[in-house]
Amino acid sequence: MKKINIFANWKMYLDYDESNILANALLEKAKDLPENIQITLFPSALALYPIVQTFSGDNLAVGAQNAYWIEKGGYTGEISMQMYKDAGCKFILIGHSERRHIFNETNHEVRQKIEAALSLGLTPVICVGETQEERKSNKTEEVVEVQLRAAFDGLTVAEGTEIFVAYEPVWAIGTGEACAAGEAERMHAIIDRIVKALIPNAKLSILYGGSVRADIVADYLVGPATDGVLVGNASAKLESISDIIDRVIAVATAK
Ligand code: PEP
Repeated sequence: MKKINIFANWKMYLDYDESNILANALLEKAKDLPENIQITLFPSALALYPIVQTFSGDNLAVGAQNAYWIEKGGYTGEISMQMYKDAGCKFILIGHSERRHIFNETNHEVRQKIEAALSLGLTPVICVGETQEERKSNKTEEVVEVQLRAAFDGLTVAEGTEIFVAYEPVWAIGTGEACAAGEAERMHAIIDRIVKALIPNAKLSILYGGSVRADIVADYLVGPATDGVLVGNASAKLESISDIIDRVIAVATAK
């Protein structure tokens, strides 16, 4: 059975102590995690280093929520991909909708970040998705295709390079209004086709993100084009992320 990924984006929800407490609780919970489930935590930059030291194992990893593509220099307030790599990160979230819409991150910047991550051997997790307005104007596929082409067109990757794409409709993030699982799977199949045509050498995994909760998480794991979920709000509380993990274990271990 293919690997199911649970990516936990803690955004700016948790302070240093809260992050470490939750990471340690999840480490305990992950003791008997089936081999085909991978949990990756994306803590805040300040909490990341101690968590990298403890939250490790064959199917446990840590990633950064954002990073700058230049290695070093006069870029006040930024943290480079190289710095995250040195700290022990394996994954980098790139182009999250909150970066695109609150911090005006462009497709061009997203591309720079993808190239920097790949050059360092970090695994990029590229977030794409349409706004409510774009969805209502039937532009979902067009918008996602533009984001994917900007990210990958003309990119050369070595055979088997891991790339994650998270389909995260902007209207579903943090709103409690998740995209229907069937609709997400349909988008994932489209994303799969587009990305495989652009970078056929890559080992592509596709995640759904947007108001995922325990009671609906299994619905997203049915389709062949979906490799897991990216969870925000529900991943930052022990009870709700534990429930999600339990539901995923049930799917992963079902005969
Ligand atoms: C996210 O921020 O990537 C996300 C999916 O958030 P939420 O689960 O809170 O909608």
